[in-house]
Amino acid sequence: MDALTAVPEADAEAIRGNLRTVTVRIEEACRRSGRLPSDVRLLLATKTVPPERIRVALEAGYRLIGENRVQEFQQKHAALADLEAERHFIGHLQSNKINDVLKYVTCIQSLDRLDHAAKLEQRLQREGRSLDVLVQVNTSGETSKFGIAPDDAAKFAAEVARFDCLRVRGLMTIGLLFTEGERARECLRLLRRLFDRLKSAAIDRVEMNVLSMGMSLDFEPAIEEGSTLVRVGTSVFGKRPTPDGYYWPEGTR
Ligand SMILES: *Cc1c(COP(=O)(O)O)cnc(C)c1O
Repeated sequence: MDALTAVPEADAEAIRGNLRTVTVRIEEACRRSGRLPSDVRLLLATKTVPPERIRVALEAGYRLIGENRVQEFQQKHAALADLEAERHFIGHLQSNKINDVLKYVTCIQSLDRLDHAAKLEQRLQREGRSLDVLVQVNTSGETSKFGIAPDDAAKFAAEVARFDCLRVRGLMTIGLLFTEGERARECLRLLRRLFDRLKSAAIDRVEMNVLSMGMSLDFEPAIEEGSTLVRVGTSVFGKRPTPDGYYWPEGTR
């Protein structure tokens, strides 16, 4: 690694300490809710985080990372190419980035448009491979325009499942942040109920194994409500310099 971009040892130790703390908090939330820690995966949300800091986490043994923009995968790719990682796309997908995103990820967690599914299918067919997807659900109502309305999620999942190369694995939501308390928890409960309903509906080619909910502010309640994958950025890497409105342009938070 280039000496100019080396992470100061104190910063690296802070990241490793944060990872240990988050892991313990996940384990304790599991214990409180009678769940196994091995049932909950930790995805590191690495938007705005420079590759040398992501490297610290990967070298500490954490293997699942998510980016919100294809450009950030592109920019960081070379610097991390020697390290093994599973990469998910967790951002707002743009039609013109669909071919590029497939170079980097094995899962798109934020699928909420059928035309995107069709475009992905076309490209995947040509490449002779398949892709995991989660249906992004809008659990916070009018405060967000991203994600499928809960009532439309079953139909949407069934339509996506008709594309041979797409494997619907579960649901994702961002929910209500900043609004702590019961309204935020209601979003988590809503997604959990929807997840259970879709699972028992046993829709053809729709698997319901992944329930992706919970971020730095709410990963513990999310686990208590049944999350199987939490996406954590700030609690590991610290506060971001870029406002999240840049990534989710209209205030999901
Ligand atoms: C930024 C982001 C996260 C992580 O948020 P933190 O509050 O920093 O933990 C998780 N999921 C999505 C979709 C995000 O955009």
